[in-house]
Amino acid sequence: MKVLFAASEAAPFMKTGGLGDVIGALPKALAETGVDARVIMPLYSSISHDLKSQMKYLGNFEVSISWRKTYCGVFTATVGKVTYYFVDNEQYFDRPKAYGEYDDSERFAFFSKAVLDVINLVNFFPDVIHVNDWQTALLPVYLNAFYRGDARYANIKTVLSIHNIEFQGKYNPIILGSIFGLDVNCRSQLLYDGDINLLKGGIEAADMVTTVSRTYAQEILGPDYSFGLHNILGPRSYKLRGVVNGIDTNTFNPETDEAIYRKYDYSSIRFKSFNKKALQKEMGLPETNDVPVIGMVTRLTSQKGIDLLCEVMNEISDLPIQLIALGTGDSHFESFFYSWEQARHDKIRGYIGFSAQMAQKIYAGADLFLMPSKTEPCGLSQLIAMRYGTIPIVHSVGGLHDTVEAYNPETKTGTGITFQSYNAYDMLDAIRRAVDLFHNKPHWRNIRKNAMSGDYSWEKPAKEYLEIYKEIISK
Ligand code: ADP
Repeated sequence: MKVLFAASEAAPFMKTGGLGDVIGALPKALAETGVDARVIMPLYSSISHDLKSQMKYLGNFEVSISWRKTYCGVFTATVGKVTYYFVDNEQYFDRPKAYGEYDDSERFAFFSKAVLDVINLVNFFPDVIHVNDWQTALLPVYLNAFYRGDARYANIKTVLSIHNIEFQGKYNPIILGSIFGLDVNCRSQLLYDGDINLLKGGIEAADMVTTVSRTYAQEILGPDYSFGLHNILGPRSYKLRGVVNGIDTNTFNPETDEAIYRKYDYSSIRFKSFNKKALQKEMGLPETNDVPVIGMVTRLTSQKGIDLLCEVMNEISDLPIQLIALGTGDSHFESFFYSWEQARHDKIRGYIGFSAQMAQKIYAGADLFLMPSKTEPCGLSQLIAMRYGTIPIVHSVGGLHDTVEAYNPETKTGTGITFQSYNAYDMLDAIRRAVDLFHNKPHWRNIRKNAMSGDYSWEKPAKEYLEIYKEIISK
């Protein structure tokens, strides 16, 4: 079977969050099962020089959209068993950031259409094109609108994965023709609530829609979590599936992780406390094991539940804990952590920035990992934390509900501490319970062991995706 992933990010080339992790790992896991899995993404100027030097130039052509004919260079690289293709256009991708640019609609329309021409240039006609989020949601629309007449494209199936339904790619309908090059026949597919909505168009056009956990697949059918799209998804729930993400267990492995202070596994978990001390030292916090270190590695946005912290930070700062938060995002949340670091320099650190190295040090050095997300499609941070024996405290929603089982002292099962309703005092109570658990040595040993022995790999999810591909190919 041949599968092409089209995505706006893929680790290690570009990652701004969970999508990058997924596209860096799922194709690899599929390749292990014998699938010819390949990935295509934009050639961002911010990709490291080292990675760029491994790429080979394959050729170029022009992509036609509307009245424009735009240059498209194609490069390739191989990582393990996975072939990557890179779409080069400096006007669109030589930017400081992957997204958040004034012309994102044009940039990713170009990319989505370019992918369909690149498969011709490289002569790789897949059975399935697997697109991801709004950035590539136009691809199934373009495929149906312009390419089906060519026998080589006629039977290609498409899967759209929704990694976060909050981001939909909404634009003024006026640009349907001029920017997207689509005529009135495509208008109804893309139009929603007065906007052109790329994710909505993808949901309609794709053969299958997946999202990244079973609970989130249910949640987005209702108005509370769908950001308006439940009316679109409801009638199409027959083609909606939830597959819980895994993590790359080779990259995220405390036994081999070069970024952490000292490697360990469960049998040498005493070295985890070495990581804790070293982290405290690097952060300038008292080097003590008398209090738990609570870590956070997160985008600083409301979705991630930072509002709850703002509400009860006074109470949290009085608990016998240390708190280390690494993140970037909304400036008022960045200032919030900055001012709490000033106010409680004895126990709170807000490390504002995006640093893969520091993230790993926190996963390894913290005792507890706080993730109070308001909504959470899947969440990868809690999986990474558990793999490192760092106990998650989570709001039991979406993928957090599917992946973190509350610890039960009776049965000694479970891998984390959960709270059910999105409420600051319920979160505070969960933190207090976590602190108690930290001091109860037998239970603390159990929960850590449970967390570290969980299977967070891509093996099982990759098989589920394979079944989905087989299902749509057979139709
Ligand atoms: P989302 O994709 O919604 O941001 P996920 O939990 O699915 O959240 O994935 C987040 C990924 O990004 C994890 O690998 C996490 O470690 C990483 N990450 C988030 N913020 C930072 C940061 N400031 N520095 C380094 N890594 C980060």
